[in-house]
Amino acid sequence: MAKTAEQFDAVVVGSGPGGAAAAWALAEAGARVLVLEAGPRYDPFADYRLERPDWEARRFPEKVPTRGRQSFAPLQELDPAWRDLRSWNLHRGPMVAGPRRAAWAYHHVVGVGGSTLHFAAEAHRLHPDAMRMRDRFGVAADWPLTYAELEPFYETAERIVGVAGPAISGPGADARPRRRPLPLPAHPLSHASRHLARGFAALGMGWQANTQAALSRDYDGRPACNYCAGCGRGCPRTDKGSADVTFVAKAEDSGRCVLRPGTRVLRLEAGLGDRVAQLLVAGPDGRVARLAARSVVLACGAVETPRLLLLSAGNRAPHGLGNESGQVGRNFMETLFWTSSALHPDNLGSHRGLPSDIISWHHNAPDAVPGTVGGCRFSAGVAEADLVGPMAYAQRVVGGWGRAHHRRMAETFGRVLTVGAIGESLPNDGTYVDLDPRAHDDLGAPKARIHARLDGGDLVRLRFMARTARDVLAAAGCDDPFEEYGAYDAFSATHVFGTCRMGDDPRDSVVDASGRSHRWENLYIADASVFPSSGGGESPSLTIEALAIRTGTILAERLRKGEI
Ligand SMILES: Cc1cc2nc3c(=O)[nH]c(=O)nc-3n(C[C@H](O)[C@H](O)[C@H](O)COP(=O)(O)OP(=O)(O)OC[C@H]3O[C@@H](n4cnc5c(N)ncnc54)[C@H](O)[C@@H]3O)c2cc1C
Ligand code: SF4
Repeated sequence: MAKTAEQFDAVVVGSGPGGAAAAWALAEAGARVLVLEAGPRYDPFADYRLERPDWEARRFPEKVPTRGRQSFAPLQELDPAWRDLRSWNLHRGPMVAGPRRAAWAYHHVVGVGGSTLHFAAEAHRLHPDAMRMRDRFGVAADWPLTYAELEPFYETAERIVGVAGPAISGPGADARPRRRPLPLPAHPLSHASRHLARGFAALGMGWQANTQAALSRDYDGRPACNYCAGCGRGCPRTDKGSADVTFVAKAEDSGRCVLRPGTRVLRLEAGLGDRVAQLLVAGPDGRVARLAARSVVLACGAVETPRLLLLSAGNRAPHGLGNESGQVGRNFMETLFWTSSALHPDNLGSHRGLPSDIISWHHNAPDAVPGTVGGCRFSAGVAEADLVGPMAYAQRVVGGWGRAHHRRMAETFGRVLTVGAIGESLPNDGTYVDLDPRAHDDLGAPKARIHARLDGGDLVRLRFMARTARDVLAAAGCDDPFEEYGAYDAFSATHVFGTCRMGDDPRDSVVDASGRSHRWENLYIADASVFPSSGGGESPSLTIEALAIRTGTILAERLRKGEI
């Protein structure tokens, strides 16, 4: 591999929403950027074949398998006192066997665009109070910047991605003030979600059309959504605002950004002074080379970014690069989630529509859930539960066999309603990422090992989420649930945060408010690992992008002034 990183002002590692948005902001501000991405590019038209007869059998077409990329320490024993939170299906029985919490997966994609390639396109701003959890509620940590400081960068992210949503935010509208309207009008609610709206309303829970990174009109050269519900398998129309078709494409269009897919960064190496000098990189042909770097922006996600820093330990950084505080890998926050599904008496056509098109923020504020600190939200979840095709109905919704099974299939198809809830995840001492001394990747480097423990407050919140999800389904006119699953007995995280916390104090954080390492002056982090708190169920990508744009903009200015 040519040693060309000297030609660039910044090397960005990872091209998920964090890396892509940082690269775009740097290029936009005139900096020359090299993006190194471990995974391949995906071609939406060739790779996401939702028109094939076997579309349902094919999940997201992973080109780099992700199962087993990380390892798990044994998870906690399950306490019978919380047995109402066990995962189950009417026809298949318990989903988790045994007395311990199961490690289902850290769901992610290795590829240009990162996990936005299969995300559900929810595009949320954080509740401002969720950024002040220590100050206001004595838990987690405060963000070293305010919602108002982040607001202009949210606006930019919404414009680049093409976010659609309501002009006002419904009940709680004041919670997330905005200076300008969203670029696109809200998507119409699906027929099924209008039934869910009745359930929310019957319980006095405010609801609204969700804000989504999916186009409600043709926008910026991309066509409007066709409501196929296929987001989790990859959007074949490019209307979904994944990072590859938005920030990466625009960064490349600038002429100042070069992307190298299939290029894995193995470690960072310190140089003179408190500077990162070079990166050890494995290219697509497997050859390993060193690239010099003027500045480095890490954006490998909240599990792989701390791993890379820990793998970069050396004489000058014996506990890992940027780990002077011992906080790299600590404060990990997973996804606290719950999903209940039930049949409605009417045919709702619920297998189609934009995933999560309706949301209730009613319990999203940090003090909105009784008996615990930290909020949650509720949304439509049929597509995210993957209850959109006949295979899922045959296996999970309809029991029996033969003619009775066929008849039941015809009767029930399109009648499932699902409520998905996501809640605040608070950091604790038992939840962190470290290097596994026993499990190694193909090049012999220790894998990231995930330790996860749910505390009592998390379980109180989770029980509230489960009970409320059931209540919403009942109020919407559904039968009793036929399937429920959640974080109590299964680690199955889609949103992960916190392992390189940002903060003002170098003793308890890894980077400052600009995303820069407290010690290493040309090292920045621009992904979900910098979040000091998770929010009350907000989907994180828009916040990741806003933060990364801010980090990229500040870094570009420092580069321009010759400070780095
Ligand atoms: C099924 C699912 C649905 C979701 N739905 C939503 C949603 O609706 N809305 C929302 O906001 N969020 C959603 N999320 C979460 C969202 O996708 C993630 O929070 C987000 O993508 C994280 O961004 P990131 O930049 O921190 O990391 P990632 O997206 O994980 O990107 C990291 C990138 O770095 C690369 N990389 C890692 N290590 C290296 C290395 N050593 N060298 C080079 N490259 C490397 C990876 O290949 C990857 O491309 C969903 C996630 C899943 C799994
Ligand atoms: S529902 Fe819309 S955004 Fe999702 S895959 Fe289909 S066309 Fe794309």
